[in-house]
Amino acid sequence: MSTVQWYFPDTIDEAIMYLGREKVVPHGGGTSLLKSGIASLNGLVDLSRLGLDSLKMDKGILETGASLTYGEIADSLANLHPDCILGKALGAAASTPMRNRITAGGSASVFPLWSDLIGPMAVLNASICVEGKNAGTYDLNSWLADRSLQQGSLIISLFYPDPVDWISYYHRETRVGFDYPSFTVSILARKNGSRVEKVRVAVSGGLDRVRRLGELEEKLSGGDVSAVDKIDVKRMATMEFGRKPSGSPEYLSEMAALQVERGLRTVLLGEVVSR
Ligand SMILES: Cc1cc2nc3c(=O)[nH]c(=O)nc-3n(C[C@H](O)[C@H](O)[C@H](O)COP(=O)(O)OP(=O)(O)OC[C@H]3O[C@@H](n4cnc5c(N)ncnc54)[C@H](O)[C@@H]3O)c2cc1C
Repeated sequence: MSTVQWYFPDTIDEAIMYLGREKVVPHGGGTSLLKSGIASLNGLVDLSRLGLDSLKMDKGILETGASLTYGEIADSLANLHPDCILGKALGAAASTPMRNRITAGGSASVFPLWSDLIGPMAVLNASICVEGKNAGTYDLNSWLADRSLQQGSLIISLFYPDPVDWISYYHRETRVGFDYPSFTVSILARKNGSRVEKVRVAVSGGLDRVRRLGELEEKLSGGDVSAVDKIDVKRMATMEFGRKPSGSPEYLSEMAALQVERGLRTVLLGEVVSR
């Protein structure tokens, strides 16, 4: 029977040395590692002594350490910045026991189709700070485009520029609260009276994994809020989905476009739309 060696580094350099060994990977919350199985691995690197568990706001940039759990991030933001979309999304993800295990770093490494992190990261233009073989800071698209960046890498923290003072909306499409979402909708807006200064919209869970709806953002930003009634929101919000337990690709595509429209009406017109 094969055994998996645990390593307990005290510094990032030491952790990276272990990660350079064959089939030795970081252990965040363990929720994905447990599901995928660890029998094929040679070793796991515990991250709990590396000090990657702080949440800071410096010069308007929010930094969340890789070892912070969804629950810790959601709780801190609920106190400090209750309207921040990141806190709203992570506080609604999965179940309480899961939120107390899933880490920001483990989540940004896997980015499953049901991720509650990826949509807020997309609308907040977040980046991922990595040490090790591919040390650097990556925007979300570059990180998603090249999965080889993960090998031998340790995610240190996630950066969110300009994360607060937005009107925010987050929707996760589920049948019951702790389900995996079949898609998520993230919307941020800034308004001045009836003028829309800026809108950002992202949908996750489709074939693109996460997509910013650029045409829609352009049509709405800089105009009057009433534009939401005049443009074809559904066409601009239509994207492709694969088949999921919750429905066919066509059904999910229709539902996601509908939820984008509802979200925009909530954020721009103040409408309260029931599900
Ligand atoms: C039942 C269940 C329900 C879930 N529901 C949701 C949900 O609704 N929404 C949601 O967003 N997520 C959900 N998840 C979580 C998601 O599926 C992944 O399990 C999670 O993103 C992994 O995070 P983790 O911290 O547990 O990572 P781990 O399992 O510890 O690690 C996952 C991978 O990331 C690597 N890794 C870990 N930390 C780092 C790091 N700092 N740097 C580099 N690589 C690292 C590991 O080596 C491994 O390859 C759910 C999981 C389960 C099991």
